[in-house]
Amino acid sequence: MRNITLLGATGSIGTQTLDVIRRQNEEFKLFAVSANKNWDKLIEIIEEFSPKFAVLMEENAYKKVSNYCRMYNKNTEVLLGMNGLIDISTLEDVDIVVTAVVGMIGIKPTLEAINHGKDIALANKETLVVAGEIIMEAAKKNNVRILPVDSEHGAIFQCLQGNNIKDVDKIILTASGGPFRGRKFNDIANIPVEEALNHPKWNMGSKISIDSATLMNKGLEVIEAHWLFNQCYEDIQVVVHPQSIIHSAVQYKDGSIIAQMASADMRLPIQYALNFPYRKQCVINKIDLTEIGKLTFEKPDMENFPCLGIAIAAGKQGGLMPGILNSANETAVSLYLNNKINFGQISYIVKECLDKFFSSAEVNLDNILDMQSKVTDYIIKKYK
Ligand code: NDP
Ligand code: MG
Repeated sequence: MRNITLLGATGSIGTQTLDVIRRQNEEFKLFAVSANKNWDKLIEIIEEFSPKFAVLMEENAYKKVSNYCRMYNKNTEVLLGMNGLIDISTLEDVDIVVTAVVGMIGIKPTLEAINHGKDIALANKETLVVAGEIIMEAAKKNNVRILPVDSEHGAIFQCLQGNNIKDVDKIILTASGGPFRGRKFNDIANIPVEEALNHPKWNMGSKISIDSATLMNKGLEVIEAHWLFNQCYEDIQVVVHPQSIIHSAVQYKDGSIIAQMASADMRLPIQYALNFPYRKQCVINKIDLTEIGKLTFEKPDMENFPCLGIAIAAGKQGGLMPGILNSANETAVSLYLNNKINFGQISYIVKECLDKFFSSAEVNLDNILDMQSKVTDYIIKKYK
């Protein structure tokens, strides 16, 4: 039995992780969970799984869940805020931490979990984008495994098994192209939020859905792949593949391309990460290649979707630049979701912040968090 801490249990990845745990309840025990403010969903989880700990970030939600647990004599201890997140990520009984919170709020608990020797099943890509150097160094030092949950990185991880990383020629990161593939920048600049949230292949949380529509998500994933697989940016190729059957691939020096294919269902990469190196019974719809018939590939459109190129350039600059990129994007996306700016402004704001806050300062947690608050304050003052 392995004890799992699930950060972000009420979200899209969180809910799908619960389904994997539910189906393997003889192998995994849900030890601790967290949410931001979604107290009623967290109570449902407590009812079903009886975790030892539950953490809420928002005080009102924390009070509601605490009162509930006290009133109904639950064995779940309820904690509040960042200290709670760090506690449930580091307690001795925890074997693996699934990081499924959204945004760079995941950095501290992830880093603390690594420093306490916990394996990480990583969905929270923003953590690696912003603090890849720190996270990967800590993982190496503590002999901790970072098991990718993001579908592309999970696919690459599978394609690397049994091969030598030194034989990799390049990583091929596939992209669906998002809901606006084929459209022009000016044509989608004022697109309503509901349309941008409507992804053709994946059902995801709102932040990553907007990132998929701008192609920022693919840019963040290039940076994520750079850190996870220690590849230079020139050796990571983005290929648009609208059917989302090939979840990514690796080309080796002899010219062979090994790809991973499956239906678009996050429960597979979650299951693979939690059980690695073993494979378990299928929980998703198996594909039949004769029914799919045709797989197509094209180059990404960097002109009409500037976020992809902006992200790769920030990744290449390194240092605090990917952190600036990510902070600006998180804030701009949240303003867009609240109808304060239009879709077309997201890339402008991110570019503006990269120019305005250009920095060659050292990458450490203090500098990262300091820069995040500067960038966020600037955007909110100017655009809210
Ligand atoms: P969701 O928005 O669906 O869920 C986010 C989770 O994080 C919720 O549990 C939410 O709690 C919690 N949360 C939100 N804000 C905070 C905060 N400030 N502090 C602590 N917890 C918070 O996101 P997704 O599940 O879609 O994505 C999670 C991560 O996984 C992201 O980094 C995303 O990029 C990555 N990912 C997601 C994929 C997907 O298919 N969804 C695919 C690949 C990667 P509450 O419910 O209370 O708001
Ligand atoms: Mg992905």
